[in-house]
Amino acid sequence: MSRKVIIAGNWKMNKNAAEGVALVEALKAKSAAFNDVEIVVCPPFTTIGAVVEAAAGSNIGVGAQNIHWAANGAFTGEISADMLVTSGVKYVIIGHSERRQYFGETDETVNKRLAAALAAGLIPIVCIGELLEEREAGKTEEVLSTQIRGGLANVSAEDAARIVIAYEPVWAIGTGKTATPEMAQAAHAFIRAELAAMFGAETAEAMRIQYGGSMKPANARELVAQKDIDGGLIGGAALDAESFLSLISEAMGC
Ligand code: PEP
Repeated sequence: MSRKVIIAGNWKMNKNAAEGVALVEALKAKSAAFNDVEIVVCPPFTTIGAVVEAAAGSNIGVGAQNIHWAANGAFTGEISADMLVTSGVKYVIIGHSERRQYFGETDETVNKRLAAALAAGLIPIVCIGELLEEREAGKTEEVLSTQIRGGLANVSAEDAARIVIAYEPVWAIGTGKTATPEMAQAAHAFIRAELAAMFGAETAEAMRIQYGGSMKPANARELVAQKDIDGGLIGGAALDAESFLSLISEAMGC
């Protein structure tokens, strides 16, 4: 089973519309050379419209960083699936560790957001990962299992095949500390086994699992070369065209 590598840039709360357009224009100038990889950028909500326009006709897809589960209503500050889809968004990050840490996301809210994203035909990128103290206490697998089983509860195998999982050990995000390729591969293999238990081996084999956490040009090749690592969710290294393109090139073994 061959899975298409997916490299997504999570811009977090960076880049206004003009800065986002400049970044996408710079990416577009060279991205056509990478046919075998799905390239995604996830700008802040206010930058999405301009970025969708700038990315039109290129091989760069646009994602959002969050989604609400309700169709509409009194949810100040939230954005619905329909608002994303009609803005030209194709992907959505759900349950990023910063959302879990600072904004009270739980596996239950992840599950509700996921259901809304799937119903709207979006490609969800569901983030999971353990804290440093959980890893040190030998609880990594227990944490991942709870997040997968809670976050992906009540999803059909057909829908599951569309989900991208981003394994992001929290201690590696924005810290410069990367999981070794062996550590990351072991976690990814465990995640795939969990997905197989939930959705069957065939679906689990088709699902893409990204690594995230201080991935950069210097370590992307070795990480993506691992059997169960199907790309990356990139923070800091996605904010600059040269580093993001170079990371993509390394990940693809060019
Ligand atoms: C992230 O926030 O998803 C991430 C992986 O960040 P960084 O690449 O900066 O560690």
